[in-house]
Amino acid sequence: MSDPAPIVTLDEVHQGFDGTPVLRGISLSVEAGEVVAVIGPSGSGKSTLLRVICGLVPANSGRVLVDGIAIHETTADLHRLHQKVGMVFQSYNLFPHMTALRNITLGLTEVLRLPSDEANAVARKLLAKVRLSDKDDAYPDELSGGQQQRIAIARSLAMNPKVILLDEVTAALDPETVKEVLVTIRELADDGMTLIIVTHEMGFAREVASRVVFMDDGLVVEEGPPSHLLGQPRHARTRSFLDKVL
Ligand code: ADP
Ligand code: MG
Repeated sequence: MSDPAPIVTLDEVHQGFDGTPVLRGISLSVEAGEVVAVIGPSGSGKSTLLRVICGLVPANSGRVLVDGIAIHETTADLHRLHQKVGMVFQSYNLFPHMTALRNITLGLTEVLRLPSDEANAVARKLLAKVRLSDKDDAYPDELSGGQQQRIAIARSLAMNPKVILLDEVTAALDPETVKEVLVTIRELADDGMTLIIVTHEMGFAREVASRVVFMDDGLVVEEGPPSHLLGQPRHARTRSFLDKVL
């Protein structure tokens, strides 16, 4: 079998705010079914990297391709991009005045223009997948942080994306609900979903990631299989970061 084209390709991507560089030449390629964990100190540019991939912030230079869409080009179809890339944030960003079910169906009815009975059927399947079938009528403030985060994951799955980006999705959770969210993410990985996960959960990265990328100061310092990167890092900067977090 020939190598399939990567789902996500970044080539020498630079990004900055008001002249301050944040990404200083990032090249990265992610293939279908890969689970890439991105680790690194606070302020190293991890969130900015995800925001560039999902089109929330434009790169200042370099190339960004997502499933064939060249999003660095001014003519890029960002509407199509948003259907290909799911993003889940640390703060779940559910609509507080909508039920769990409606939070999931919103994109289906308003963006994809599905009739509501079809959208509801999709949402109920996804609620079952994240083990929250009984919470269809619940409002976000009636759900735990872990449950809200699983609804947010179900919402991103509803659009049938090619890749899901997860930005420290367990960082704001109570310790006892972290695990249920990690289980859901692991199941997505087992299903073959392409995932790029910014995380501080090193044990989870070691178990679930096919590759770990270490970022520092806007650069990819090194990347490799979890056992290599976390076990035998080559660079002093990686070692000193891991010494602090492991
Ligand atoms: P990480 O997610 O690794 O903690 P970020 O990508 O959030 O890092 O931020 C990297 C750097 O970019 C930080 O110095 C941060 O202050 C800066 N930054 C991020 N977003 C903005 C913004 N919207 N405006 C100005 N500076 C920003
Ligand atoms: Mg961040």
